[in-house]
Amino acid sequence: NLSLKLDRAFKTLKGTGKITEINVASTVKEIRRALIDADVNYKVAKEVTDKIKDEAMGRDVLISVSPGQLLVKITQEELTKLMGGSKVDIKLSGDPAVILISGLQGSGKTTFTGKLGNLLKKQGRQVLLVACDIYRPAAIDQLKVLGEQIGVEVYAEPENKNALQIANNAIAYAKKTGKKTVVVDTAGRLAVDEQMMKEIEELKKALNPSETLFVVDSMTGQDAVNTARTFDERLNFDGVVLTKLDGDTRGGAAISIRHVVNKPIKFISTGEKMENLDVFHPDRMAQRILGMGDVISLVERAQQAFDEDEAKRINAKIRQNNFNFDDFLSQLEQVKKMGNIKDLIGMIPGMGKAMKGLDIDENSFKPIEAIIRSMTPHERQNPDVINGSRRKRIADGAGRNITEVNNLMKQFDDMRKLMKKMNQMGGAKQALGRMV
Ligand code: GDP
Ligand code: MG
Repeated sequence: NLSLKLDRAFKTLKGTGKITEINVASTVKEIRRALIDADVNYKVAKEVTDKIKDEAMGRDVLISVSPGQLLVKITQEELTKLMGGSKVDIKLSGDPAVILISGLQGSGKTTFTGKLGNLLKKQGRQVLLVACDIYRPAAIDQLKVLGEQIGVEVYAEPENKNALQIANNAIAYAKKTGKKTVVVDTAGRLAVDEQMMKEIEELKKALNPSETLFVVDSMTGQDAVNTARTFDERLNFDGVVLTKLDGDTRGGAAISIRHVVNKPIKFISTGEKMENLDVFHPDRMAQRILGMGDVISLVERAQQAFDEDEAKRINAKIRQNNFNFDDFLSQLEQVKKMGNIKDLIGMIPGMGKAMKGLDIDENSFKPIEAIIRSMTPHERQNPDVINGSRRKRIADGAGRNITEVNNLMKQFDDMRKLMKKMNQMGGAKQALGRMV
């Protein structure tokens, strides 16, 4: 059905204008809710969205995305910046280079120690894992099992109850056996306690690690932030490892922790298997926290495909009530450059379901293009001259029937009337922007 397809084509022409208070109000609310749902502290969420709204105000919106969609993208960029912008690697220096692992009991330290050993081994390093959890014999076995699994040696002294001694002996052993990288797993408590803090503090002083990592369970929400603050005050750690991101949690803790301790998050852990470890990428986390990945990639693709000068030129023509078939054709070209139309429509929130089963692809535009290309340049630039006999000639030339041409003319006319009306209202930009 050509008319329906056309309808869709025109819909892609929505969203001309600028970001204003009105056309993004509901999106701002939605973004704030997404942040709070993702466990971002309410105050932080409000601060972030207010700042983003202020910065986004007045920014030009490309044809083909709505102001709301653009705001989601801007939010993602801001969250990325808030989390440090780009990834930060761990520092490995010294002979051996020592990495000290800290955190509460159950946060995932021992598991992470194994994962990090696995990763470093894969990078070609000679690694030694050290079991310094002297309180739970099972913790030593746990690390040994992991070590065997990944083929990395584990140093332990099951009878020794002095973590500092064990660690020092482990370093000596590493030097003797040519291990250049040592990862020290430590004991945690269920809650912050003075003895544990003293012990880890002493370990840090004695070992002088090139990297001290704080491991925290992302599912503990606001507690994670408080624990991070306490550990940082005592240890001045270098980086954070967020674990258990394979669950439902969206990872808002990443923003809150960064906000509070201002230390980079370096790894995320997404499961119990040794392979479930990822380097932390702020942009990917921002996308996850917002939970609006599809909107973000839609805007990205639009930004890539759209020629900004062309968009400005078209905006000007719309304002002058001068939009013609040449402009329409140029817009179709731009839309086509964005890729598979079905995919694109699927990305628009709420549209995916509505469009299911509809046959829309690049070819859907072919009849329209054929009709427009069958017009003379004069006709394209002056659509009003296209009378009955011209329509017949255009239809024949395009190999389409006259009804299709009439439908196109009608839709084009409606669109121009709408543009004109909005221009008269003065608030054209806002009004067009609201047509999501
Ligand atoms: P530790 O007390 O800090 O050493 O914590 P553990 O490494 O022993 O981990 C505590 C529990 O959490 C164990 O059952 C682990 O298998 C599990 N665990 C650790 N990291 C993850 C993760 O990223 N995802 C999931 N689902 N479980 C994890
Ligand atoms: Mg442990």
